[in-house]
Amino acid sequence: MPKTQRDYYEVLGVGRGADPAELKRAYRKLAMRYHPDRNPGDASAEERFKEVGEAYAVLSDPEKRQRYDTFGHAGAGMPDLGGFGFQSAFDLFDMFFGQGAGGRQGRSGPPRGADLRLAVTISFEDAIRGVSRTFDVRKPVVCDACEGRGAAPGTRADICPECQGAGQVRRVRQSLLGQMVQVQPCPRCHGEGQVIASPCTACRGAGVVDAQRSIEVSIPAGVDNEMQVRVPGEGAAAPRGGTSGDLFLAITVRPHELLERRGLTLLYECPVTISQAALGDTITVPTVDGPRPVELRPGTQYGETIRLPGLGAPDPRTGRRGDQVVRVRVVVPTHLSEKQRRVLAELFPPDGQPHPVRKGFFENLREAIGR
Ligand SMILES: [Zn+2]
Ligand SMILES: [Zn+2]
Repeated sequence: MPKTQRDYYEVLGVGRGADPAELKRAYRKLAMRYHPDRNPGDASAEERFKEVGEAYAVLSDPEKRQRYDTFGHAGAGMPDLGGFGFQSAFDLFDMFFGQGAGGRQGRSGPPRGADLRLAVTISFEDAIRGVSRTFDVRKPVVCDACEGRGAAPGTRADICPECQGAGQVRRVRQSLLGQMVQVQPCPRCHGEGQVIASPCTACRGAGVVDAQRSIEVSIPAGVDNEMQVRVPGEGAAAPRGGTSGDLFLAITVRPHELLERRGLTLLYECPVTISQAALGDTITVPTVDGPRPVELRPGTQYGETIRLPGLGAPDPRTGRRGDQVVRVRVVVPTHLSEKQRRVLAELFPPDGQPHPVRKGFFENLREAIGR
């Protein structure tokens, strides 16, 4: 894949402050304009299409976008959009390939089977670790009786007499500018170049029948909401020797009770008492790898963060794991006993002036807060 050095914001034609909705709009518009199905044989459109996809893949991922904003192209990690059997944020595929399969038919050779989309919900933990799942999918498969040829067993398809097998016909019509020649798919054989005299009874000549199939899929570690996993060749079968479409799993990840995911970072809001924050403590925090002890330093402030390297979500392309970030939330007690109120008022007088630390301060505080 050629590496572009054009600014991603410029590629999408948006400002640096563009919000996700704006990015998506700009991306959809450009991707549709430059999509190869709309620009057959146009190499520069294809180049632009890739460039737009690359820009969107980076800018639509908060973490990658931040790295890109900070380090430029070197920091974005250059997503590779092809060849991994995996696409991110590409709900666009339905739009294109749902129709695209039909659009391809007229051009050359046998048709391609339609792409299929399956909505899949997985747990937070499965999304982090990756999971194998088996799905029962009802889809068009190659007809056994005629081996997909569409002709009754023992018979064959004939060359279409209308187009002599070319699949297309030329129409000449008169216009103000003179004769216009139009090339159209052959109406007799619908562009396939052959006709079936005695259709297979099992599939009525279609070459495909609907059937249930079990498909085992490995969902890569690190998938996130709005990602799609592509399973090549597991879409609808194409009749008469065409290639099958692909199956796309549209992933939904169930939220975790305690952890929140932002790109490759997992965030944990950790409630601590005033005395834990003031005195320091060893606390236990949940991670996707199980509970981990974390040192809270004395004097920890509200909102302070502690980074646990390598305990975040893995990048599904590289396997590299992000970090977990523990954000400290000091919980201020809402109900105090008379004694606690008195000690607190004495230690932290409400005049806002710093109170001198004296002997016994920590013991008093510990007792006052009652931990
Ligand atoms: Zn058949
Ligand atoms: Zn024909």
